Amino acid sequence: MTIQSEIEVKIKALVNKLQEYNHQYYVLDNPTVPDSEYDRIFRELQSLEHEYPELKFPDSPTQKVGGEALDKFQQVTHEVPMLSLDNAMVEEEFVAFNKRINERLKSDEELEFCCEPKLDGLAVSLLYVDGVLIQAATRGDGSVGENITANVRTIKSIPLRLTGKNIPQRVEVRGEVFLWLDGFNAYNDKARAENTKPMVNPRNGAAGSLRQLDSKVTASRPLGFYAYSLGVVSEEIALPNSHYDRLKLVNSWGLPLCPEVKVVNGVSGVLEFYSKIQEKRAGLNYEIDGTVLKVNDIDSQLQLGFVARAPRWAIAYKFPAQEELTVLRDVEFQV
Ligand code: NAD
Repeated sequence: MTIQSEIEVKIKALVNKLQEYNHQYYVLDNPTVPDSEYDRIFRELQSLEHEYPELKFPDSPTQKVGGEALDKFQQVTHEVPMLSLDNAMVEEEFVAFNKRINERLKSDEELEFCCEPKLDGLAVSLLYVDGVLIQAATRGDGSVGENITANVRTIKSIPLRLTGKNIPQRVEVRGEVFLWLDGFNAYNDKARAENTKPMVNPRNGAAGSLRQLDSKVTASRPLGFYAYSLGVVSEEIALPNSHYDRLKLVNSWGLPLCPEVKVVNGVSGVLEFYSKIQEKRAGLNYEIDGTVLKVNDIDSQLQLGFVARAPRWAIAYKFPAQEELTVLRDVEFQV
């Protein structure tokens, strides 16, 4: 076998493995390996594809977002794709990201970043027309998601009608639905006491709770929501020119914003945010697995644009892995 064909076999094996893990995670809400293991294989594939670009195929998991939408829900086509995020695992990778974008922007000044906790739940799109919530959808494969409007209407902190000023006639707000940790723990204590199945973890619990056919089940789950971006907007011109000010505007319409979100300058500001939020992590009532760092200036975001599955102007700088595979193996998942 030539080296080239050996590499091809290896790449195909990694693609098959990731496709299987994606199906278990996104479609069945039932992961069988820890995220750290998934991330390791994903990166191995990425680096082989980087070295052998002729072996990078359009259907590779490195070129795609998430999993497919489930047939049991109506499908929703996203007008603006819902992408994933590139990630940095160590400080040097964030520094390299910062250097790359400075070069692309031809800037030698410190960039302003909007720093957000990376909430460990499920991305959701909320479409408001004339201020009224008319549709809620999951991310799905980034182009087509699941219509979960009836379930989202049961989440108390998501307003059915927006209030306040400067609300575009048609506006899509995106954010994360997650389980409050006190509610998650109470749910699992009760499940154990009653000998029913506990949830494996808050992320999969949130995904399973939202993708229920009976909205009463969703209503009984302790779900929260924090907004983190806008999708389609009918009057872009009316919006502020920084990501943070847009989040504040969305917040003024009645949508919850994570209180930890902060604007900082340059690499040192980001690193300080990262370590402060890592210290606070254990005391938060929602699970986070890192930070998301976004170029704050919208014109710069537009200039930087997107690659296949992620924006160039944002990165998830993750915390070191904590989870153990035994946790996933020992507890069966309850949706
Ligand atoms: P991701 O979770 O790394 O990043 C994108 C997502 O982050 C967004 O869709 C959004 O839901 C979320 N997010 C949270 N806070 C945010 C914020 N403040 N701003 C913007 N987005 C925010 O990417 P992904 O594509 O959803 O999932 C990939 C990850 O999922 C992998 O890195 C892996 O850890 C995990 N995964 C695990 C398995 C497994 O089998 N264990 C399988 C597939 C994926």
